[in-house]
Amino acid sequence: MIKLITFDLDNTLWDTDPVIIQAEQHLYDWLKKNCPALTNQYSKESMRQFKMGVANANPALKHKVSTLRLEAIKLNLLDVGYDDRAATLQAQQAFDIFHQARQQVSFFDHTLHVLDDLKKTYQLAALTNGNADVSVIGLDCYFDFSLSAELVGKQKPEPDMFLAALDHANVAAEEVIHIGDHPEHDIMGASQVGFHTIWVNFEAASWRDATPYLSPPTAEAHCLSEIPKLVARIDEGSYK
Ligand SMILES: [Mg+2]
Repeated sequence: MIKLITFDLDNTLWDTDPVIIQAEQHLYDWLKKNCPALTNQYSKESMRQFKMGVANANPALKHKVSTLRLEAIKLNLLDVGYDDRAATLQAQQAFDIFHQARQQVSFFDHTLHVLDDLKKTYQLAALTNGNADVSVIGLDCYFDFSLSAELVGKQKPEPDMFLAALDHANVAAEEVIHIGDHPEHDIMGASQVGFHTIWVNFEAASWRDATPYLSPPTAEAHCLSEIPKLVARIDEGSYK
């Protein structure tokens, strides 16, 4: 019997690239106005590369997308001559601009309907490697709880976030379905801890072509509207 449904967020409930591109533009515009010494030396692209360099030099930040971005902005500011205090202050303000804009997502067509439908029967939780905030986005009325890699300290597909969800909901792995778009982060990660899985596969890609070495999901959806039926079938034991 299914008791909990966990959802990936980015690229499962909305398209993520456009919102990140827009948030990075907002961040850059803000820096241009408030920290021109930085934007005189760094383009948006070179800031992105700088951030990747910070990530490579600090493996501990790999699981913490918010801390990484904040730290990268601060190091950027120090690099162009800000002192530590000013860099810390400006980096926090700049990060807040990014973070706010990053929540301005446009849901896929059936996102709200599906959450609303499943909420009537199951506990719902959000499990994300990113820094989308369900309460700012306005989805906290659907989710009983949400966990992030930043909070847990490890990213999916590592088992930590999935196991934390079991703990939090006080359910067993076989009572959970995880729904997500990423073959490794979502499907492999969740099935390795014993969850049922639904692969959100909008492109109707072939699982074998996408990931020849991974065991397939319990079920797959080409449109979010298919999810309630798939959940019901898994719940009644039609998939083994
Ligand atoms: Mg995703």
